Amino acid sequence: MLDAVVVGGGPAGSASARLLASRGFSVRVLEDHASSGVPTQCAGLISEEVVRMSGVRPETYNSLRGAEVIFPGGRAVKVRSEGVKAVVVDRADLDAKMAAAAMDAGAGFSYGDRYISHSASSGGIEVRSASGGAACRSLIGADGHSSAVAASLGNNGPKEYIRGIQADVCADADFEDIFRIRIGNGVAPGFFSWEIPCGDFVRVGLCTSWSAGPPWAYLKKLLSEHYRGEKIRGMYCGKIPLGGRRTTYGDRCLLIGDAACHVKPVSGGGLYPSLRAAPILAEVLSSALESGDLSAKALSRYERMWMADFGKELRRAYFLRGRYARLDDARLDRAGEYCSRDDVRPALDAIDLDHPAEVIRGMLRRPSAVPGLISLAARCLI
Ligand SMILES: Cc1cc2nc3c(=O)[nH]c(=O)nc-3n(C[C@H](O)[C@H](O)[C@H](O)COP(=O)(O)OP(=O)(O)OC[C@H]3O[C@@H](n4cnc5c(N)ncnc54)[C@H](O)[C@@H]3O)c2cc1C
Repeated sequence: MLDAVVVGGGPAGSASARLLASRGFSVRVLEDHASSGVPTQCAGLISEEVVRMSGVRPETYNSLRGAEVIFPGGRAVKVRSEGVKAVVVDRADLDAKMAAAAMDAGAGFSYGDRYISHSASSGGIEVRSASGGAACRSLIGADGHSSAVAASLGNNGPKEYIRGIQADVCADADFEDIFRIRIGNGVAPGFFSWEIPCGDFVRVGLCTSWSAGPPWAYLKKLLSEHYRGEKIRGMYCGKIPLGGRRTTYGDRCLLIGDAACHVKPVSGGGLYPSLRAAPILAEVLSSALESGDLSAKALSRYERMWMADFGKELRRAYFLRGRYARLDDARLDRAGEYCSRDDVRPALDAIDLDHPAEVIRGMLRRPSAVPGLISLAARCLI
């Protein structure tokens, strides 16, 4: 009997599998697709810290030092630092290398093997999958935004989904080491668009609130206004779960990554929280496997630990996102004015991609701050 079956060979699944296998546990990853990282659903924009946490060196398209935010009325606010704020990585390469690292640590990967369901008993878990199945002592749901493992825990959907779409456009960007964000209800209702220079192409994408309908119409408009006639070399879309799930553990079962709603609500970035959760999961599950107590009660320590580590930050940021999503274009423009002020800009320049909501706390300490605008000010720069 395997110690753990991991459903999903994305970053969250591979990181968990690597950490457990390197502690000597027998682990098998079930991945629906023929390889890890394809199809890609990511802009690939992460901090250097996330690259370090991934444990691998993915192909990198560019290093970025800041962002230019374009407000609905046309005002542009540039935020820039001396150091590198973010790198743009080849996400398919990152996923493939993380899976290879998990294999090197001893984890087995079963590709083209879709998890169907499982049943738990006091003796263990019977997993049914496309290839037949496996018996294991514990199950890790790392199966992404529409996690079937999360659903098996009952009444466990995310509070909200947003939709994302992006195109890699063969064009030269007029900006080299910053990326461009556009906000506004005519551009990307409830979220923002991005244009990321990646050498010989620009990654143009956006996310929108679910209520705004399919995002393709917004991307089409953005492309026709700014990249008319340019060749598109790839197109990707996906959804992002926000706001948390009812639970991230059950009897013999733990969730991680998008399956656990480990996503930053202001930016949609999921890699940082997923990779922070992985060592916590490995620690809690290792002790449970060693002690033989894999009850929900014993595994609840995982949720307490990740909540204490970064859960409060996610909750705070989700509250701010709710405020932001309700702003009309006039208010967004007033926020743009606010962000341009000399006493606000230094706080924005100091923004940390992995802790975007924290910049708001710094700004709130300024007596002149306008609370209704602050959430937006930080949100726009991530
Ligand atoms: C348009 C867009 C842009 C984004 N940009 C960024 C960004 O720039 N930076 C960032 O940090 N995050 C970004 N994200 C979010 C990020 O991509 C996710 O948070 C991240 O992929 C989560 O990793 P994961 O391992 O939890 O899930 P996934 O990467 O989705 O991996 C889950 C895996 O599980 C597999 N799977 C699903 N169901 C089953 C099943 N039943 N059986 C077997 N296997 C299954 C899937 O095939 C998949 O390989 C973006 C998302 C979108 C949609």
